[in-house]
Amino acid sequence: MLSPETLRDLNERFQTEPTESTLTWAWNQFGDRAAIGTSFQGAGLVMIDLARRNGLDFPVFTLDTGLLFAETMALKLKLESFFGIQIESLEPDLSVETQAEVHGPELWKRDPDLCCTVRKVVPLQGKLASLDCWITGLRRQQSDTRSAIGVIESYLFDPVSGREVIKLNPMANWTRDAVWDYLKKHQIPYNPLQDQGYGSIGCVPCTRKAGRDENERAGRWMGFQKTECGIHTFMARKA
Ligand code: SF4
Repeated sequence: MLSPETLRDLNERFQTEPTESTLTWAWNQFGDRAAIGTSFQGAGLVMIDLARRNGLDFPVFTLDTGLLFAETMALKLKLESFFGIQIESLEPDLSVETQAEVHGPELWKRDPDLCCTVRKVVPLQGKLASLDCWITGLRRQQSDTRSAIGVIESYLFDPVSGREVIKLNPMANWTRDAVWDYLKKHQIPYNPLQDQGYGSIGCVPCTRKAGRDENERAGRWMGFQKTECGIHTFMARKA
């Protein structure tokens, strides 16, 4: 894996280089053991487009919790056609119905952390076991909890073996306006719920419209202190 010094140097370099250069570095370094994970927010779509335009054939995956909006499911099909790719859906072991039998109905109302663990974190862990680099669409501007992310980070994936996974956030510096300018300019399909005032779109039970002055993720898990589903917090950051 990459040393802390190398990661520091790469972070400095990626701060100023175009996003496609960061993606090209990842492709040269990891090939298809690097993959783009997306929930189809705007930044992820920009990143997929930049990768395709530059001949970087990263696998793309999404977490299908079984509780996504119909608009999100329809968008996945549209994007597969638009980009000419297959997007792998990672699904939880428990269906929504089985989860209700095991943990009680509407777990998201009582214990959203457990619900997110079952429906998002565990499926992602299964995927990361086969990857060296996870490419995300995180942006610093999205929320306070994301304001200090690096463009490249290293995480301890398996405390027993010591195996690390590189997390690449090539969109870290992009603003919301820049993302939307890009999507419109290149006529990339996006979630129509965005036009209805949803700043960040996840599962139906945990997504509301955010106020105009709130951060983009303010509509997620309203009524709870929770601001992250857990996929970005379950691993310890090494560097
Ligand atoms: S976002 Fe809500 S419904 Fe979706 S997995 Fe998390 S708690 Fe469950």
